[in-house]
Formats: sequence, structure tokens, C-alpha cells
Amino acid sequence: MKNTKRSITLKIIAGYTLAILLAIIAFWVIYRQFGNYSEITKIKNDNNEKLVLVGEAITGLYEAESLTRNIIQTSDTEKFEAYKIKIDSIITTIDQVGKMSFDKVQSNKIDSIKILIDSKNKNFEKLISIYEQRKEKGLKENVIDQLKKSSKEYGNYLDLDKRIKNIKKQNPATKRLVKKLIDWSKEDNQERLTNQTLDSVANHFYKVLIEVEEKERRYERQITARENKLLKNDQIITRQLRDLMAAIEDSERKEYVAKMERSNNILDKTANFIIIITAISLLIAIIFLFLITKDVSKSQKYRNELEAEKIYKESLLKTRESLINTVTHDLRSPLNTVIGYSDLLEKTGLNNKQKHYLDHLKKSSDYILHLVNDLLDLSKLEAGRMVIEELPFSPKKLIENTISSIIPVNDNKNLEIIINSDNELNKQYLGDPFRIKQILTNLLNNAYKFTDSGSISIDSKITQNGLAEKELVISVIDTGIGISKEQQKHIFEEFSQGDDDTEKKYGGFGLGLAITKKIIQLLNGKIKLESHPEQGSNFTFCIPIKLAKTQIYEEESEPIKIQHFTNKKVLIVDDDHSQLDLTSEVVSLISLSYDICENGLDALELLKKNQYDLILTDIQMPKMDGFELLKTIRNNTTYKDLPVIALSGRTDTTTSEYEEAGFSGSLRKPYAPQALIDLIASILKIDAVDLDYENSIPEQEKNANYSLSDLMLFAQGDSESLYAILETFCNSTIDHVKELKIAVNKQEIEQIKRLAHKMLPMFKQLKAKEIVPILDTLEHQDNYELNTKEILSLTEEGINKIEDLIDQLKVKN
Ligand code: ADP
Repeated sequence: MKNTKRSITLKIIAGYTLAILLAIIAFWVIYRQFGNYSEITKIKNDNNEKLVLVGEAITGLYEAESLTRNIIQTSDTEKFEAYKIKIDSIITTIDQVGKMSFDKVQSNKIDSIKILIDSKNKNFEKLISIYEQRKEKGLKENVIDQLKKSSKEYGNYLDLDKRIKNIKKQNPATKRLVKKLIDWSKEDNQERLTNQTLDSVANHFYKVLIEVEEKERRYERQITARENKLLKNDQIITRQLRDLMAAIEDSERKEYVAKMERSNNILDKTANFIIIITAISLLIAIIFLFLITKDVSKSQKYRNELEAEKIYKESLLKTRESLINTVTHDLRSPLNTVIGYSDLLEKTGLNNKQKHYLDHLKKSSDYILHLVNDLLDLSKLEAGRMVIEELPFSPKKLIENTISSIIPVNDNKNLEIIINSDNELNKQYLGDPFRIKQILTNLLNNAYKFTDSGSISIDSKITQNGLAEKELVISVIDTGIGISKEQQKHIFEEFSQGDDDTEKKYGGFGLGLAITKKIIQLLNGKIKLESHPEQGSNFTFCIPIKLAKTQIYEEESEPIKIQHFTNKKVLIVDDDHSQLDLTSEVVSLISLSYDICENGLDALELLKKNQYDLILTDIQMPKMDGFELLKTIRNNTTYKDLPVIALSGRTDTTTSEYEEAGFSGSLRKPYAPQALIDLIASILKIDAVDLDYENSIPEQEKNANYSLSDLMLFAQGDSESLYAILETFCNSTIDHVKELKIAVNKQEIEQIKRLAHKMLPMFKQLKAKEIVPILDTLEHQDNYELNTKEILSLTEEGINKIEDLIDQLKVKN
């Protein structure tokens, strides 16, 4: 079961670990795929940017081309600056494209474009410089320069218009130009120019003009050639750029397709991965579900089995408990009789052999009684039926009483008994004195049993346990055989004893400590053991107790003689005749008059007729039980305050339960007569009572020649036992009387002496006033110097009195 529980836990942990591992792997893989995917998207964006830049460059080139044409058409050199700015921006754009291109073809193309732009620029610059030159020196200046070179006399001419008209076969435009040139020459050479030279000047002009014209034409051609080259260059560059763009577009498209494939691949991979992970997770979940369900059903099976076992065990326990209860109850009564007989027998003058047998008998019956009581306690403890009471008590008194009841007065072992107790223990505390006494009795019994020499110390103190609670701590320390470490582990278990030798030597049945520990636990206390073999043991227990609110400091007092309450009357209710007799006997001991009846209904009848000071009632009775009787009494106005004492053999009802029901007190049967007398005295508000039987003999018994009070104490209040003892006494006395008669006839003085010795203790027990002195004289006849005749007549007198007494007792029986 434990294994299944652990295996379920392990499987759940393994399942969770695997699920977490899978989640981490899935997260990591998806994260990486996402990284790859976003990388691809970034590249895609770069290509787009490149395409945009290439587009920009082409547009720029178109603009530059139109600017070129414009400059060529207008020869407006001013616009060259705008052209240069455009070209610079184109180059910057192309450089940007270059930086983004890692493809060799593209890089080559970009380089060649730049070279082309460069050469175009150079061409254009040359063209511009030509334009500039032409602007600086026009046709007029050229012609004049030429003229200056060819004739020094061109300044002396007159009547230029006329002469120019004479220039033959000249077209009007040339004529106009020549005239203009001459005008310009006139302006320059007014003083030097003469009419004579004018014709030759005109001719010279003409020649010069022709040359200049020729030169101009050549120049024009050159320019046209340069312009054409420039335009061609532009076309080439534009084509190159288009190619480049196409190449970029192409590579981008290819790349795009490749990236699309890659991203599709990534998406496919991710999707596949997610499917695989999901499948694995599902598989793991199913496997673990299966395993855990298997385990759970297994543990459920175990649980059902356990529950069945538990029910079976409980029924066994119940059966055991009722068996123990029946056996122990049925054993206790005859055991008490056996013990009573044994005590009685002991006092009948036994020989050594008989004493030895009796000793065995007593030990065995004590042993059985002890076992029966322990078994009863154990079954009550196990069934949770042991009731704990809270009563005021003085721990010191309790400890001292317990010690004196256990350690024999004539202790053969000569053990030193050391009692150390705190003054605090004199105070009154609330707790369960009966159970505490039981614990201490067990520990002290063991200490005494297992210690052959040395000492037994009983240390006790009151300690503070928390703020409100106090604790009674008692240690029983002996110098006995001690307990081994191994044995200490099992010492508090039922039927656990030392080794076989210890068991043989010291006896016991291994229940004492188990009961002790259970009672301590029931009282919320603790027990601790320290022991070393051959050195001794220390049993320390602590029990929580409360300080009683009212403190009664008991003083040591002289026993107070019993008072005779002749003016008080008691009603005794019990369906058991022997019990009725016993209780009546006890009541008459203290001179109370009484009435008896057998059930509650009869008691009520008697209550109507007579006046009583106290009722003593049994609980379980036919017709009306003790509780009902009490209820009726409490509800009746006339005698509602009448004190009622419960006397019951029930073991399942506690003192406090009786008190709660309204009883003035309670006693468990069989009770000790002294206990009932004490209770009656306390309820009838009479001072502390200690029964002095000599003085307590009722008047009628005082006059009688015998008393049963001692025997009743022997029988521990059990009337059946008392009568059984009396019967045995009568039978044995009859035998003794027969023997005495024979001895008288045979005049056997020694036999008479021996028989008197044998019979004397029992008659002392019976307080036989007349017989005891006779038997005593016969036993110690030497002291009285009697002759045979006197002895024989005294014996006969004794026989007569004894026979009278036997007759009286038989009537009583
Ligand atoms: P019992 O004494 O009836 O056998 P207990 O439960 O009282 O049963 O004790 C169990 C065992 O513990 C004893 O048999 C004995 O071996 C050991 N034991 C108990 N008290 C002492 C002690 N004071 N010194 C040595 N041995 C002890």
C-alpha cells in the first residue's frame, strides 16, 4: 500500500517532469524557428530596400539625362551644378546599394556603373569647359584676334559698307557678319584705318572669317560629338542600371523564392514539431494516466481490503472486549471468594505444609486477580471506554499512600526507600487520582519486583507547563536489574517482558507498562525511561493537572470514634438479597436503623409511609431502576432533598455521571464497608469517620457472644463470600469439636492443647467472647497450673459453647 502510494507520487512527479521538459524543448525549438523566420523576413526587407534604391537611382539618372539634354540644348552651364548634385545623390544611392549587395555579379555591375558615371562626368565637364570658353570669347573676339595676327594695317580703312557690298558671291549673312566685324574694327582702329586699305581689309576679313567659320564648324562638330558621346554614355549607364536592377530583381526574386521555401520549410518543420510534441505529450499523458489509474485502482483495492480488514479487526476487537469483559467479570467474583477463603484459612492455625500450599494458592489467586484487572483495563483503554475524572486530590498524600501499600512493612530485601517531594505537592489539585495512583502502583511494583538490593527513590514535583497549566512530575528510580537498550524499544508494548530468565525469575505478564503508557497518554501526559542493565532504571512521567480553586489543608488527625446515628433511618433498595444483607450489615455497624426493599416502586411505597434520612439504592433493578427512582424522588416536593447514594456494579458509569444525575454520592460494588461508612458520614454531615469496630458493634451484637465485623472485612464486603467463609468455618469447627470429644474421652491433654491452638484464631476473628478465654486457657494450660480433671471439664464447657455458637451461625446462614 505504502509502495503503491509512493509509486503514484513518483509517477506523477515523472509525468510532470516529462511534461515540463517537453514544454521547454517545444518552446526552445519554436523560439529558434521563429528567429530563423524573422531573419528571413529581415533579408526580404533588405532586398526590397535595394530595389527601392535602384529605382531611385534610375529615376535620378533619368532626371540627370534630361538635365544633360537641357544643358546641351541651351548650353546653360549654370545648370551643371544641379546636374552634379543629382549625380552625387545618384552615386550615394548606388553606393548604398553596393553596401547591401554581397553578390559578386551585382558588385561588379555597381562598380562598372560608377566608372561609367565617372567617365560621363568627365565628358560632361569637358563639354562644359568648352561651353564656358565659348562664352568667354565669342565670334567677334576670335575674328579680331585672327585679324590682328594676319594684318597690322586693318585699322586704316574707310567706307566699309561700300566695300563690303563689293565682296562678291558672298551670302547675305556673311556679308552682315563682315560688316559687323569691320564696324568693330573701326571702333578699334578709327585713326589708323584708311580707305586705301579698306578693300584688302575686307578681303582679309573675308579670308579670316572663312577660316574662323571653318574653325567654328569644326568646333561645333566636336561639341556635337561630345554631346553625342555624353548622351550615349547616359544611355549605356541607364541600360547598365536597368540591367543591374533586373539583376537585383532577379536575385531578389530568386532569394524570395528560396526564402519562401525556407520559411515554408520552417513553418512545416514547426508544424511537424508541434504535431510530434503533441503526439508525444498525448502518449505520455495516456501512459501515465494508465499507470496512475492502475496504481490508484490498486491502492483503492488495498484500501477496500484494508477497510474490510479494519471492520473485521473492529469486530474482533469488540468480540475480544466482550469476551474479556465476560471472562473477567465472571472471574472476579469467585476470585474474591478464593482470596477471602485463603485469608481466612491462613488464620486457622495451619501446619507448615498447609501454609506452603496456601501460600501458593494465594499467590496464584493474586496473580489471576491482577491479570483479570489488567486485562479489563487494557480492553477498556483499547475500546476508548476508560473514563477520566477530574477530582480534587493531594499528590503528596496519594504518593505516600501508594508507597505504603506497595512496599511491605517487613521488607526482606531491606531496600532503602527515599521519598523526595516538593511542598507544592501538599496543595489540592484537580486530576484523576485513581489513574495516577494506578500508574504509580505499576511503576513501584516493577521497581520493587526488579530490585533485590539498594534503593528505590520516588521524586515528585510540580512544574509549570505553559502559563495556565501545571504538571505533576514523578520519577521512580531503582537500583535494580535495569533494562537493555534493545528491550527498552518494546517495553511499553503489550505482553512485552524481559528475557525468559527474567520472566521465570520475576513473573508478570508484560501488561503493566503498556497499560501505564496508555493511561498516561489518556491523561495527556508523557513517560520517559532511562535505564542501564545492572545499574537500575528511572521511569519519569508527567501529567498535566490544575490547581484546585478551593484549598483544603488536611491535618493529621486522631481517628475519631464512630458515632451511632440511632435516630437516623436509611432505606436500602437492591434486588440482590445477599447484597441487601451486606449493606444492612454495614448500616447496622454504625447503628443506623433501616428498611429494605427490592425495587424502585416498592421504595416509593415505603417513602410514602415512613420518613428516611438517606436512601442507598442499586441501579439495575426490575420494575424501576435507580435513575428512575432518583428522578421521582427529586420531582416530589415532600422528599426532593433526600440524599440518595448509588451502589452499583456497573463499570461504565463514572462518579461524575452519578453526580450529574443528582445522586449525593456513589460507590462501585463490591465496596469496602469502610468506604460506605465514610460516604454515609460525609453525606449525613458527620465528622470524619474511622470505624472502630470494637465500639461500633451494635447493641444487639454487643450482647451477642460473637461478631461478624472482622470476617466481613475479610470478605471485602461481599456477603456471599462472608457466608461461604462462615460455612467453611462451621464445617471445620464441627470436625474440630469431634476431635476434641475423642481427646476428652481418651484424656489426651496434649491433643486438647493442640486443637485449642488451632481453633483459637478463628474464634478471635469471630470475637467469640465466651469461647476465646476457654480456648486460650486450654492452649496455655501450663500457665494456669490446671489438673487433668479441670482441663477436661473446661474442654467440655468449651465444646458446649462452641456447639451453641455453631447453631446460632447456622441459623444466620
Ligand atoms: P510485567 O512486570 O508484568 O512483566 P510490565 O509491562 O510491567 O510487565 O514490564 C515489562 C517488562 O519490563 C518486565 O518484564 C521487565 O523485564 C521490564 N521492567 C519493567 N520495569 C522494570 C524495572 N524497574 N527494572 C527492570 N526491568 C523492568
